[in-house]
Amino acid sequence: MNLRKIFFSFLVLIVLFCSFILFKTLTFKSLQRNYQKVASVTVPESAIRRFQDALAFRTISYSDPLLLDTTAFSGFLRYVATAFPLVDSLLEKRILGGYTLLYQWSGQSDSSPALIYSHYDVVPVDSASLTKWEAPPFSGDILDGYIYGRGALDDKVGVLATLEAMELLLSKGFRPARTLYFGFGHDEEVGGNNGAGLIVSYLKKNGVKLKFSLDEGAPLMDGKLVGITRPVALIGTAEKGYVSYKLTINTLGGHSSTPTEDNTIGSLAKAIVQLEQNQFDYLIAPVAEQLRYLGPEMHFFRRMVFANLWMTESMILKQLNAHTTTAPTMIEGGIKDNVIPTTASVVINFRIMPGQSIQEVYDHVLEVVNDPRIQITPLPSGGYEASPVSSANTEAFELLEKTVKQVFGDVVVSPFLLPAGTDSKYFVTISESSYRMNPAKISGISAAGFHGLNERISVESYLSSVQFYHQLIVNIE
Ligand SMILES: [Zn+2]
Repeated sequence: MNLRKIFFSFLVLIVLFCSFILFKTLTFKSLQRNYQKVASVTVPESAIRRFQDALAFRTISYSDPLLLDTTAFSGFLRYVATAFPLVDSLLEKRILGGYTLLYQWSGQSDSSPALIYSHYDVVPVDSASLTKWEAPPFSGDILDGYIYGRGALDDKVGVLATLEAMELLLSKGFRPARTLYFGFGHDEEVGGNNGAGLIVSYLKKNGVKLKFSLDEGAPLMDGKLVGITRPVALIGTAEKGYVSYKLTINTLGGHSSTPTEDNTIGSLAKAIVQLEQNQFDYLIAPVAEQLRYLGPEMHFFRRMVFANLWMTESMILKQLNAHTTTAPTMIEGGIKDNVIPTTASVVINFRIMPGQSIQEVYDHVLEVVNDPRIQITPLPSGGYEASPVSSANTEAFELLEKTVKQVFGDVVVSPFLLPAGTDSKYFVTISESSYRMNPAKISGISAAGFHGLNERISVESYLSSVQFYHQLIVNIE
């Protein structure tokens, strides 16, 4: 073959290759459904005041249950009962675990019920950062159109916006198509055992199987973060699991003037390095629908990357951290500079990918560390398994997509793997599908408020959240 022929064949191959990539990109069709924005319902102005009042209750969850301010929690429940008189008097109400509210609103049909859930406990505000808040964290003060307070985003917004929507609909004599449960948990930030956990036990005992559950999740974000010009609503269809292992090495120790080759700290360090170098495999299944939904909405070059997963999959999965992650978070060892310690330990936190289990993580650690002197024990705080993945191809997902678009207009809706945990870990056991989202449109700066400084929501976003729950309850068939 002469040089010209080789060059020509090469050129043909390149053209074919580029055409294939282009073809995949151009035929990468959007999965977005179209829904018209609906007219807003009139939310009473007093709704803002009620939200501010709710933010003022110090319903803080602490790891030490003895620190719980019971007056704040019971005060909050009393407040809800008086601020939402129709909800309190017309719906069946139960209080579980001391402070978790469960309302039952009987529907017109006996189709399987749905659960709408959020939590009103909040994380503490560390005193060192107190002076950096633009408005005090338990004030509910409004500055420049923003309502400030711990819980403004996580997750008193869900509780109060849902209650406003319920009260509004009850005042119009509305009755939902199917029975709806409304849960407002009091201990999500410390695991949810006595809140969401007891709701599920109660429903199980009564033979209730849910059509779907909706819980907190990601807020509506600026799509530019992922190369999309429109805002994006990420509906959590799954969440990662969680476990932490403490690795403790025990040796004879010794004098630092005569170290052995495999001394205490060095050996433990080797185990850490081994775990960091032997990462868990990346898995596409739990994020496949997310990539399929978001890809076609991106600008051309990004779309090309997402349309050609056969070539780009590993790069994208890495960017998404789409595997069980390994993060050493605490280390301890040694008492004096001239003593080789007899013990040292490290804590490693794993966020478990759906499809894998706590047992698999343990087996992996045992195999990779491979050192009989190192004991591997789970932290007493425990862990939880990754959730199953709910499909985006369900009536319930379509209902959420429809409601988002009717309320927020031109928004891209996509399934999403939530990296953090929610109380949905309980609901998945009795629900056909479980979804997670926070129906509030927030800016990048405000996003830092989740568990952070200056947690706040704009008055406009708060009112949209009320609209969302109102529309959702009306839309549920
Ligand atoms: Zn939360």
